Amino acid sequence: MRVHHLNCVSACPLGGLLMDGGNGKASMGNASLSARLTCHCLLVETEAGLVLVDTGYGTRDVADPRGRLSAFFLALVRPELREEMTAIRQIEGMGFDPRDVRHIVLSHLDFDHAGGLDDFPEARVHLLADERDSAMAQATALDRMRYRPQQWSTRHNWEVYVEGQGEPWFGFACARELAGVRGDIVMVPLVGHTLGHAGIAVRREDDWLLLAADAYFYHGEMDPDRPRCTPGLAMYQTLMEKDRKARKRNQRRLRELGRAHGSEVTIVCAHDVLEFERLAGRRHDVPIGAEEGREPSGRQYASAGARTPVGSWRGMGGTAASPPESHW
Ligand SMILES: [Zn+2]
Repeated sequence: MRVHHLNCVSACPLGGLLMDGGNGKASMGNASLSARLTCHCLLVETEAGLVLVDTGYGTRDVADPRGRLSAFFLALVRPELREEMTAIRQIEGMGFDPRDVRHIVLSHLDFDHAGGLDDFPEARVHLLADERDSAMAQATALDRMRYRPQQWSTRHNWEVYVEGQGEPWFGFACARELAGVRGDIVMVPLVGHTLGHAGIAVRREDDWLLLAADAYFYHGEMDPDRPRCTPGLAMYQTLMEKDRKARKRNQRRLRELGRAHGSEVTIVCAHDVLEFERLAGRRHDVPIGAEEGREPSGRQYASAGARTPVGSWRGMGGTAASPPESHW
């Protein structure tokens, strides 16, 4: 399976080094009061069509930020709302038809991960049941600011999974195949940041890639010998955490996973520029299509830049059957 790395809109919170540890500096050319954080999403080419892992911000967030996002988080994380950085525009830039995105696997429903859902109204969306329930409950003032029902027009397409009934994956008790998606993409519950937060693991040729999303925020936190975080990101994680004990425990488990299985699993989080640029092989503020879309795809799903792709998933008759709601 081919995995592409998309940064679906950067955040530029105030705080500079105290926030991102200088991660964004190399790209930005100089030190700045603004930190740089990515919204690291994956686009996976599978036999069953394109699978998007997390969605970042979407075109509707770009068009109407105040109607879609809370004033509090707009001021705090300061997203750089460039439409060309949304998932749908980057996918188009690669020459794909966005309707070929058959599945979306979500780590959680925070505004900066779920904003792009509305751009893919036909995709089936996979997430943990606890995340859906907690987001819909809108229980606290903070929940109402982080979870934005304005972004959930695709609710009827959501498939939810119950934590605790899965299969083992590198010592993590619960991960399993998702309805309509082959077992090469699994959800790994990593609760703490939210109550239904999950990492998503994708099997690559030589290893697994685990997008741990917001289970941690800074690459230094995965250092097995001297885990460390910037003060700004430590504060942000504390502000946003739903279950501190679970969050800390899962960070320890991720460090242990990296130590014991580092050659078999590559772990990345959602918001670290350094991790993103290392894996993507390009600057975080450049859309993927700008560099790769002009080249013919390795596989012939679509001709670059074509409106109607040649041999699209649709044309290949790859419509998945609709199994009942899955539990694990
Ligand atoms: Zn996030």
